[in-house]
Amino acid sequence: MRYEIFRDHVKLSKLGLGAMRLPQTEPGFAKPIDVPKARELIDYCMAQGVNYYDTAYIYHGGNFEVVLGQALSGYPRDSYYVADKFNVQANPDYRLQFREQRTRLGMEYIDFYMLHGVTDLTVQAYEQCGCIPFFQEQKRLGHIRYLGFSFHGTPACLRELLKKNGWDFVQIQLNYYDWFEGTAKEQYEILREHGIPIMVMEPDHGGMLANLPEECLRLLPSGGGSPAAWALRFVMQLPGVAVVLSGMSDMEQTKDNVATAASGQRLSDEEISRLKQISGMLRKKIAVPCTACRYCCDNCPQGLDIPSLLSAYNEYRDDAATLGKPEMAAWRLLRLKALPENKQPAACIGCGSCTAHCPQALEIPKYLQEMAALLQ
Ligand code: SF4
Ligand code: SF4
Repeated sequence: MRYEIFRDHVKLSKLGLGAMRLPQTEPGFAKPIDVPKARELIDYCMAQGVNYYDTAYIYHGGNFEVVLGQALSGYPRDSYYVADKFNVQANPDYRLQFREQRTRLGMEYIDFYMLHGVTDLTVQAYEQCGCIPFFQEQKRLGHIRYLGFSFHGTPACLRELLKKNGWDFVQIQLNYYDWFEGTAKEQYEILREHGIPIMVMEPDHGGMLANLPEECLRLLPSGGGSPAAWALRFVMQLPGVAVVLSGMSDMEQTKDNVATAASGQRLSDEEISRLKQISGMLRKKIAVPCTACRYCCDNCPQGLDIPSLLSAYNEYRDDAATLGKPEMAAWRLLRLKALPENKQPAACIGCGSCTAHCPQALEIPKYLQEMAALLQ
């Protein structure tokens, strides 16, 4: 395994296990966890030198925290690092949630603690609930070692957040598709400017880059490993990236991830340009090509943040297309529930003013209607 030195003294494995996709006994949303298989994966990772394990309060209703805590309890506490997250939408009582998490994990302290999934839409809820000073205090008390946030918002929102508090690290969605076609590169550069270590989530864009369509597969040079390995290699070679999380759900995938992380094989300029071409091809398949120009916003009588809503819709559609099961991808929209009701997709009155002002002529009310139905 290769390691990065985090903040001058913590040796973190380049690959981290994301507990969000630990094996279940059958496919489907929140089916029972296959505990023996999950423990086998965790034991394998520990044996291979993976020392970073990421979970969250909401993953599998907290059960992944329990399984992770039990699996790691057989190892010395200083041989691994656990990352966990506070979710304001799940329960704004941050004191209670933090207490519950340590109980579920069976741990006195959490190494890496985050505000979960901060976006332009949820940032206020995190800032106003009072959790940030509380978690800073928990850090002083030794119950948290490093404090950060996981982020799904715009670069402007990221800049604002970095101005207001000192953060030890930030977790962002970073993969070659979002680098070439989204704002991941800009977010990465902002964090580099601030000298903040980066944890990477979704290195294969929720599975999209591990399951490339045939025309994209033909562009991958031979001998570079699986499509998932190409995606991992792209992010692992970026300076400043401390840990790359992979949501591992079976042994074959885990072995592939571990081998890729151990090899440290770098991409050539030619190979990177192939990944850029693939991104362009995938982009054409994206459901709603909103450019976030915001021309629609001033004319919406409901004052909806249309580009942010459409961004959530695109994530949902990406996952739905990859999985082939729209109902399983609907969790992508759950963060919208944090919005006041009059700012949620269901508040759209279908006046069509947005479409009239949209340079892309997007049928916005249709997408909002679909989202509202899924959220119900
Ligand atoms: S159709 Fe909906 S989103 Fe578009 S301007 Fe009217 S209320 Fe706003
Ligand atoms: S006007 Fe169209 S492209 Fe621009 S932000 Fe609104 S929906 Fe997106």
